[in-house]
Amino acid sequence: MGARQEAVLNRDELLLARRLGDYAAHAPVAAMLSGLSAMIACAIAPSELMAMWHALCGIWLLAIGAVSTLRVLHAGRIEPDTIDFGYIRRQARKAEALAYADAALWALGLSFIASMLDPSTRVTVNILITGMLATAAIRLRSMPRIGIALTLAFVAGGTASTALRGDPVDFVNVPIMLFYATVVLYCFRADAAAYEARFNAEFAVSESAETIRLLLHDYEAQSADWLWRVDHSGCLVGVCDRFGEAASMPRPELEGKELVSLFRHGPAREHLSHRLLRREPFRDLTLELATRDDDPLGGRWWMLSASPREDGTIRGVARDVTATRRTEQRVAYMAHHDGLTGLANRFLFGETLAGQLARQRKGDSCALLYLDLDHFKTINDTLGHSCGDLLLTEAARRITSKVKGHDLVARLGGDEFAVLLTRFRDAEEALAVADRIVGAITDPFRIEGQKLHISTSVGVAFYKGQGGNSDDLLRQADLALYAAKARGRACFAQFEPWMEDRERERAALEADLRNAIKQGQFALHFQPLVNIDTGEVAGFEALVRWEHPTMGVVMPGEFIPIAEDTGLIVPLGEWIMRNAIAQAAGWPGGQRVAINLSPIQMRSPRLMSQLVTAIAHTGIDPARIELEITENVLMQESEANVALLHKLRELGVRISLDDFGTGYSSLNYLRSFPFDKIKIDKCFVADLEKREDCQAIIRAVTSLAGTLGMDTVAEGVEREEQLDWLRAAGCTEVQGYYISYPFNVEELSDGRPFDSECERWRASIRRLPSAA
Ligand code: C2E
Ligand code: CA
Ligand code: CA
Repeated sequence: MGARQEAVLNRDELLLARRLGDYAAHAPVAAMLSGLSAMIACAIAPSELMAMWHALCGIWLLAIGAVSTLRVLHAGRIEPDTIDFGYIRRQARKAEALAYADAALWALGLSFIASMLDPSTRVTVNILITGMLATAAIRLRSMPRIGIALTLAFVAGGTASTALRGDPVDFVNVPIMLFYATVVLYCFRADAAAYEARFNAEFAVSESAETIRLLLHDYEAQSADWLWRVDHSGCLVGVCDRFGEAASMPRPELEGKELVSLFRHGPAREHLSHRLLRREPFRDLTLELATRDDDPLGGRWWMLSASPREDGTIRGVARDVTATRRTEQRVAYMAHHDGLTGLANRFLFGETLAGQLARQRKGDSCALLYLDLDHFKTINDTLGHSCGDLLLTEAARRITSKVKGHDLVARLGGDEFAVLLTRFRDAEEALAVADRIVGAITDPFRIEGQKLHISTSVGVAFYKGQGGNSDDLLRQADLALYAAKARGRACFAQFEPWMEDRERERAALEADLRNAIKQGQFALHFQPLVNIDTGEVAGFEALVRWEHPTMGVVMPGEFIPIAEDTGLIVPLGEWIMRNAIAQAAGWPGGQRVAINLSPIQMRSPRLMSQLVTAIAHTGIDPARIELEITENVLMQESEANVALLHKLRELGVRISLDDFGTGYSSLNYLRSFPFDKIKIDKCFVADLEKREDCQAIIRAVTSLAGTLGMDTVAEGVEREEQLDWLRAAGCTEVQGYYISYPFNVEELSDGRPFDSECERWRASIRRLPSAA
């Protein structure tokens, strides 16, 4: 049954079409049999019969021949697969009409031929008829009416010839003939019923098959999946429309194409090819289509499942999983990359580095550059995060532009970057890259119309198969970075083993520091601040010392950063404040005490109460307390800190700006808070005589401070010439080794009275020619 015919014709019409088709297949043989039988029947007729009989015989034979020829021609022209039911009905009628004509000719022929024959030839005719009936029963089962007509024609012919001959012996044959004819007719009917039943069964099957086909079609059209089939050599056959659409290829082009050739080379394609070759089923195999897609996220992806069939083909389903795949890729990308700069993130960098070290062969080397932007936090805090983000993005671009394509650049977080160099001739070449990056970041940045200056420090560590893992290498680079920062930033430093020793010492110090406060290992030294004109000791700066049980005196430059990193600066700072105020309360001259405040202490909510308690305990005049803060305090969380400074000021204490000129954009900070005093950093004082830029800065600061009503202190005065120059510049106070080293008041008091020392310091100023 053709699919189109089934869709158009109903069951009865289809049955007739089937009958006609079967008839057309067998009718030529039946017609030829009829003609042949007619010739035999005529041939066995006795020759002594009269000429008239022979003429009749000839006519009959011609008529049978003509009808048979028409039947053969007609059967040959029948097209049973048409959906034109009118045609089918017409052809069926024509076929029946021709068959009836044939049957009628036989009935007529038998009645007169058989009546003329002698008994011996009559047997031959009977055999002929039996044979024709038997073949008709088999050949014409599709058209039972024709079979029945033929049977009835033979019965009629037989009965007529018996009657015509009038031989009583023959009359016995009539009931026998009638009996078998009845049996034959019954067989025709039964056979016809079976034929119809078989057709009905087939029809039912094909109808459900059609339903399934329609459902599948629907499934293909609606779902994201489509079906495919390949032959024994793995080439596509029966490609459906959806497949063509999905593959963006015309269907004829796909037909006969190797399925694997649609996909990109790789393990998945190998897998597919292997499975098809071995005719093994597989599920959910994801493959990338071999498209000419320049999308950086990759092309298109299909997921295939299939199982082999008994007919030698392999059938399967395919689904476009591009969207899922892209999402997966994006998620993976996001998990491995920094969202802001698009660089590799810490995770990917760590993995790559570990992989690189594991693959490292003898003689290979790689270099790790660890970068940290200097004072980036200030930019973020003062200019806002969006500006900070733009700066980071531009910094990332500049770093990337200074390395080769195969080098990995990563943002490890915040303002930290890392570069992994794997192919370089020698250490010099790798260090040159570090130098180029430092240079690239030093160039001014143009962000949102502003010109910004920033720099980077870089730590470099090499791996030459010395053992250790990626964490060790990262730590070494970090130590080198620390060294670069210590060297004044905007430079690079290469890791050296002593850095590790120092780090170990630092770790040991950190451990010891935790107990040092409890065990009373700290002492305060004081350094006088002297009025530059009168020589009066205006006050003393408290400088902490750690009297380490085994290492001796440890200077604050070494342990204060550790105390700040660990938060220990808060209890230590409290101890310093309590002690400094307590000691100052006992000074006979009523001089001021300057106490250094770390930015970390400023964050402590206990700071205010500690100060209030210390003042209350000693009864000291708050105006004698000077708190020294650095520019960092204003750079970080500036608003909260400025508010805190105002509150401290309300207590009556004085606030000094320490290390002025070393911070980020100094003069701005003078406007953010009305300081009582500015301490010019010793770095400007050190080369004062030789460097005009230092002189210019000091002059600017003193004159600005004068206008704003602030005192100025020059730190680190070590020589007479410096003092001279500073006095001329209008500086109010000086502090430095020239006047006095920091000293322990308790030790001093043992031998010499505190007052007489102050007199000595005053004298040291008075002795100067200009003051005389
Ligand atoms: P600073 O606040 O700038 O302290 C002045 C530093 O300069 C002191 O070093 C002092 O001994 C040194 N100095 C004084 N006169 C001269 C001189 O003529 N030439 C030279 N080259 N140096 C001179 P020190 O005591 O080693 O302290 C270093 C830093 O440690 C201090 O710098 C301060 O930032 C910090 N520090 C010291 N004591 C404390 C403290 O009690 N609390 C906090 N938070 N920080 C402290
Ligand atoms: Ca200070
Ligand atoms: Ca200072």
